[in-house]
Amino acid sequence: MNMRDTVSYLTDVIERGEPNQVVTANPIILMTGLDNPSYMKMLRDAELVVPDGAGLVWAAGYVGEPVAERVAGYDLMHELMKAGNSRGWKVYLLGAAPGIADAAADKIRAMYPGIQIVGCRDGFFKDEEDEAVIAHVAAAAPHILLVARGANNQDPWIAKYKKRLGVPVMMGVGGSFDVLSG
Ligand code: UDP
Repeated sequence: MNMRDTVSYLTDVIERGEPNQVVTANPIILMTGLDNPSYMKMLRDAELVVPDGAGLVWAAGYVGEPVAERVAGYDLMHELMKAGNSRGWKVYLLGAAPGIADAAADKIRAMYPGIQIVGCRDGFFKDEEDEAVIAHVAAAAPHILLVARGANNQDPWIAKYKKRLGVPVMMGVGGSFDVLSG
């Protein structure tokens, strides 16, 4: 799917309310999967994997399964905010250093006033705090959960808890909150 079809597909997913994990795969994510069977299983079990980067687009063509175009995670995040702006979607920002998710949330509110930010939390919590984080996200009932904790952590974390989180679009976004917050 190109970017437009990806946004349209995820809009349907949100309207139906089904939990979906979206992985924005870059070369590091793909190579981690090739080295680590449990990471590869996580990639195979994700409901949607999009090609985030020219390397993935090239590799897909090289193995004879070409993709339509690059769908970068940062751009997809903005496209989803645009789609949600007119629909009043609720968004939860989880990740990055203390204060960064709040600053990113301020930017989202300014750029997309129709988006409701229903939660913000930094990404430096311990495994013992997972339960409290899951409870907070589930109670906030967002349409979109953006998780910015680095690819080694965020995508397996979403995979582990996606059924319990139950959010229609759960997507790892790497350093996007840092970029967005400036
Ligand atoms: N991060 C986090 N918790 C962690 C490790 C990283 O919230 O335990 C955040 C970090 O502050 C940054 C984002 O995750 O905002 C992406 O981190 P990094 O660039 O190291 O990961 P990459 O995207 O390169 O995998």
